[in-house]
Amino acid sequence: MEENRPTNFIRQIIDADLASGKVERVHTRFPPEPNGYLHIGHAKSIVLNLGVAQDYDGQCNLRFDDTNPEKEEQRYIDAIQADVRWLGYNWDGLYFASDYFEQLYGYAVELIEKGLAYVCELTPEQMREYRGTLTEPGRESPYRNRSVDENLDLFRRMRDGEFPDGSKVLRAKIDMASGNINMRDPVLYRIRSGLVHHQTGDAWCLYPMYDFTHPISDAIEGITHSLCTLEFADHRPLYDWVLDNISIGCHPQQIEFARLNLEYTVMSKRKLTQLVDEGLVDGWDDPRMPTIAGLRRRGFTPAAIRDFCNRIGVTRQDSSVEMGVLESVIREDLDASAPRRMAVLNPLKVTISNYPAGQREDLVAPNHPKFEEMGTRVLPFSREVYIDRGDFMEVAPNKKFKRLVAGGEVRLRNSYVIRCDEVIKDDSGEIVELLCSYDPETLGRNPEGRKVKGVIHWVSADHGAPAEIRLYGRLLKTPQAGENWKDDLNPDSLVVIDNAFVEASLADAEAGVQYQFEREGYFCRDSGTPDRLVFNRIVTLRDSWAKIAQQ
Ligand code: ATP
Ligand code: MG
Repeated sequence: MEENRPTNFIRQIIDADLASGKVERVHTRFPPEPNGYLHIGHAKSIVLNLGVAQDYDGQCNLRFDDTNPEKEEQRYIDAIQADVRWLGYNWDGLYFASDYFEQLYGYAVELIEKGLAYVCELTPEQMREYRGTLTEPGRESPYRNRSVDENLDLFRRMRDGEFPDGSKVLRAKIDMASGNINMRDPVLYRIRSGLVHHQTGDAWCLYPMYDFTHPISDAIEGITHSLCTLEFADHRPLYDWVLDNISIGCHPQQIEFARLNLEYTVMSKRKLTQLVDEGLVDGWDDPRMPTIAGLRRRGFTPAAIRDFCNRIGVTRQDSSVEMGVLESVIREDLDASAPRRMAVLNPLKVTISNYPAGQREDLVAPNHPKFEEMGTRVLPFSREVYIDRGDFMEVAPNKKFKRLVAGGEVRLRNSYVIRCDEVIKDDSGEIVELLCSYDPETLGRNPEGRKVKGVIHWVSADHGAPAEIRLYGRLLKTPQAGENWKDDLNPDSLVVIDNAFVEASLADAEAGVQYQFEREGYFCRDSGTPDRLVFNRIVTLRDSWAKIAQQ
């Protein structure tokens, strides 16, 4: 797939900074918190940060923003690295914010020494009350004017574990009347004791807040452009305040862009965690999840995800992207690259009376109708085949119905023309089998003296393999997840078909390899069920019927 170099307002800023000499070499970072798996929103950030580094011959670090040990786990660290790699990127430095805990502590001490930070003992409720509102200024904490020495002593003892959780915090001394609530003496450090941090173990019971950690981590790493989502725009004055008031000598530029929202799904890690923890999906890599792992298991390609991120672009306008955009990107990718196969999802048995019992004929079918270089595969043909129930009606409902009808003819794709001679029903009147005859002169040739317009897919009953097929719908019934989003979960987001038949060549399909099941959609073998033949539907086809019928 062609991936043109995107343009966006951030790349324009970078162009200008390089042209003016403000920066010599671009250095970005992707800073996930290891408290869940990456989702497609993170992919937007990855494609932006790592894509910029690639295109500008710069660097991009992967930095785990790991200051909340309660929620973070090693397995997320591993999954995040695997997902970034799978998306096709390699980071330069691999860091953890926790690598900087000692340095961060030192900068906090520097702020205290400058009279710019203090230990506060207001309870969380009092703190909220003192903070004021959007329309009312806050009030100064009674602890705000402690002496530097007292603050230094208390802060050291906070680190030493002398005080219980929640009893004291370190706050920046900025402006309780600021119009920006983030600047009303924000908390820089809190006590969380008795936890084992995945990187630092039990070395710390004092943990820095994001707003303090992030600018300093960026500066330590020499990040030039710190790209984050719009909700951090209001935190930028604090980002700048921290760097302006410590002796770090590097001041990255924070630039915000709109986060990706996708319709018919949820994206925040908090909600995705709920889906997993409450068993509403089959884990983080459930193919219905908007996670990278879910999309991978579903059968998405990294190229399609990158292409999607580039197509939606990077702006400062919050919006919601239609699921159709993601679907059409993968469809386009797979239309060009996925080998064609046949699978019958709703089988109806067809016996070809004039075809010898026990005979097998190895037909050869192209893997792709347009690209000969994709080769061919063997398609066994025999007396008994399955077609889809939807491809037969006793009487055509209208002139557009070009499939098989009683007494009518149809071509079996890549095979012969058959005629339906007899319809066999059970006692309840349900059609259980068709008796047909084939015209041996029609392999790769039009029949003599008549036109057969319909082409349907089929699978040899003797040589095809039984398979389970999973059809995925959208996670939610409504485009936007509201407060009660769990009430909007789509009960039909997974439909399991357990009696499908797939053509012989799919019996040993490798997990994750994509195919087009002709007239049905794009599928790949599921990686979560190695002991059985299970295929995931990646995405439906647009109406392929008309196109195939002409061939
Ligand atoms: P969530 O709200 O889903 O939990 P988060 O922002 O807390 O996401 P982080 O792990 O902190 O998740 O995010 C790492 C990086 O990915 C951040 O720079 C963040 O801005 C970016 N990011 C997260 N979600 C999106 C999104 N939906 N669109 C674009 N970028 C995102
Ligand atoms: Mg976060």
